[in-house]
Amino acid sequence: MARLTGKTAIITGGAQGMGAVTARVFVEQGANVVIADILEDKGQALAAELGEQARFIRLDVTNPQQWDEAVAVAESMGPLNVLINNAGILVFKAIAEQSMEEFNKVLNINLTGCYNGIRAVIEPMKRAGSGSIINISSVDGLQAKNSLSAYAASKWGMRGLTKSAAIELGHYKIRVNTVHPGGIDTNMHSTDGEGSSGADAFYKNHALPRVGQPQEVANMSAFLASDEATYSTGSEFCVDGGWNAGLALDFLPKS
Ligand code: NAD
Repeated sequence: MARLTGKTAIITGGAQGMGAVTARVFVEQGANVVIADILEDKGQALAAELGEQARFIRLDVTNPQQWDEAVAVAESMGPLNVLINNAGILVFKAIAEQSMEEFNKVLNINLTGCYNGIRAVIEPMKRAGSGSIINISSVDGLQAKNSLSAYAASKWGMRGLTKSAAIELGHYKIRVNTVHPGGIDTNMHSTDGEGSSGADAFYKNHALPRVGQPQEVANMSAFLASDEATYSTGSEFCVDGGWNAGLALDFLPKS
């Protein structure tokens, strides 16, 4: 039996990037997946390619009513026991130049969208008998950079939300964790100022001096979704090549 057989997962932002690779990995490992995204053409094409185990639904994570529709689609495929809150946007803006609209937009999608998802799956996961909610935060949910006030606030916020939800929902066997990717080779990464997609130069002083691959994050999510992770909740799981551990400084001795 495959590792995720019997699991049905909603993956937000599943039409491209890390979410799409996660959908592939989950289907390969036996799960049913609902690819939930605002990108209809890409999402539908991916669902068609993945076959019977995948469905697409248009979901704007900021819209609670659309969440109810996504849950209904998932429950038509099987008991809903996995949610991956992966949808997100990245905006670089100095605080002094950022409008309230710009700030709130990032918070609304990245943080409130995640909250909407958690709320929407509580009853379905109680019905399923257990669940795993995986919130895709970032290294910027553990540290920060200039021009990332909104993004870092949203990704740190996801950590607090995760811990609170984990404490509230543990007695229903619903686990809630954050995953903290470092630089991962997706569209978002290619425009994020850390170098073009695939460029490793930015990471030369990291423990693992290269960009990460979406599959490496998907593998962590697969672990957290699986029954191998049944005693892990309210925790942070880094997939960052050691970024959060610190940097190798050229002027100090190395092994
Ligand atoms: P991406 O831009 O390729 O994918 C993001 C997806 O989210 C897209 O499919 C987009 O359509 C979707 N989305 C955006 N707004 C939405 C909304 N309102 N409702 C539903 N879907 C929406 O980026 P990615 O690199 O695959 O990022 C996935 C997640 O990983 C994001 O939360 C991001 O912040 C996080 N992350 C990425 C990196 C990186 O280096 N790529 C690093 C750390 C964290």
